[in-house]
Amino acid sequence: MARELAEAGVPSLVIDKESFIGGMCHSRRDEETGVDMHVFGPHIFNTNSEKAWEYVQRFDRFYPWVNRVKASNHKGVFSFPINLHTINQLFDKTLTPAEARRLIEDQRDKSITNPRNAEEKLLSMVGREIYEVFFKGYTIKQWGVSPAEMPADILKRIPVRFNYDDNYYNSRYQGLPMSGYSQWLTNMLNHPLISVQLSSAYEHSMRDEFEYVFYAGPLDAYFNYAEGDLSYRTVRFEVTRGVFEQQGCACVNHSDLSVPYTRSHEHNYFSPWETHEKSVLVREFSSECSRGEPEFYPKRMARDMEVFRRYMPLVEQEEKLSFIGRLGCYRYLDMQQCVLMSLDYAGRWLSWYKNGKKDYLPKMPCEF
Ligand code: UDP
Repeated sequence: MARELAEAGVPSLVIDKESFIGGMCHSRRDEETGVDMHVFGPHIFNTNSEKAWEYVQRFDRFYPWVNRVKASNHKGVFSFPINLHTINQLFDKTLTPAEARRLIEDQRDKSITNPRNAEEKLLSMVGREIYEVFFKGYTIKQWGVSPAEMPADILKRIPVRFNYDDNYYNSRYQGLPMSGYSQWLTNMLNHPLISVQLSSAYEHSMRDEFEYVFYAGPLDAYFNYAEGDLSYRTVRFEVTRGVFEQQGCACVNHSDLSVPYTRSHEHNYFSPWETHEKSVLVREFSSECSRGEPEFYPKRMARDMEVFRRYMPLVEQEEKLSFIGRLGCYRYLDMQQCVLMSLDYAGRWLSWYKNGKKDYLPKMPCEF
């Protein structure tokens, strides 16, 4: 938002309560190993939008990097997301694509035509066996509730492929900024009309000090929880430094409930253009988020959406402030969605501003 406003001649001050910019995209070079770490978990920029892809590359060179994940569980180590290799591994077969299609057709629950939750969606797509081996335990660990209680959209677009394509994403463009995410964001903010002030929390008095505010913190915290708490998941990271290679690939998803962490990442693999003697392996532990802890994932359960709707009239009453980002909008947004939404919303905001602030401006960049 700041960059788009600056390029249109509108100055801004970016403040962050942390001592670094970029929120959960923050990356930092590890002192002991020299490895550039995605401090709040892996971020792999991927998009189908040429506009988003071109935009992000204005601020750094992106290395074409494809996320290839393994799923590890009591049955073995599998290719993931579900593809022909996974199916052949799990059922100990050598099926062709057509044969695998028939097998999944036999496995899947065809009686579910309109899945109401994540469990029904998976049962209708892949059937009980694949659901239980790869998704059930992982989802319980990740979200703290049964997939039957979670909305189907937490799965985003879970691919089921009948070829050997093991790219984690379906996106046309995918890559990593070669100078690291923090430098990429520093370059984005490097403009004479943008100032940055770190270790400064938002305060309501700023609405009077500034002509307009874009707030990217949690929606419920902004209103001092007046309409109730929204639920989030937080993540704790356990770091192990050792010799390269500790794990043998960038990302492993641990599907079993008996393993307490959801994923492990060996960060060296996120910068294959560098070499380091030592490596950093990070395990992710997901838990319910209490007030004041870092909010990683909005849960958006039915109860949350009721609370969320109660905040809407308060949101609309804000005259000089908009809510943006994953926490401001209480929505499970990816980097590319944030980029596209901000480009679009900055455009809408600028026309509203230049038109004398007369027309109606939605107070969030996305609809619900
Ligand atoms: N998921 C799963 N098993 C996996 C990977 C993902 O059950 O091995 C489910 C889980 O519910 C997770 C969702 O799919 O929350 C989305 O996964 P993704 O890896 O896209 O999530 P993110 O990278 O945003 O944490």
